[in-house]
Amino acid sequence: MKFSRRQLLAGASVIPLQSWIGSSAVASDLPEVDIADPTAVALGYVVESATDGQNCANCQLYTGEDDAELGPCAIFPGKSVRAAGWCKSWVVKAG
Ligand code: SF4
Repeated sequence: MKFSRRQLLAGASVIPLQSWIGSSAVASDLPEVDIADPTAVALGYVVESATDGQNCANCQLYTGEDDAELGPCAIFPGKSVRAAGWCKSWVVKAG
């Protein structure tokens, strides 16, 4: 099977977009971590930070979208945490 240069370029622009849409859908579908989860308890995770200037949204380990209420955290694989939350593993976001 032969492809024209135009067909190859068109295909190359579609594949990364499909990958991005797919990974975005997975991230938003992660179940929220239970505050009774043993790791959450051990790290003092709370859904609403009481520590000035520190919350999940500005933590280095948080990878949620800017405006999202929930997002993934490296400490809780396969789960999401509240952007407004906090735990003892908080690390200032670089940059
Ligand atoms: Fe939030 Fe703690 Fe995860 Fe940082 S490490 S995003 S503070 S739960």
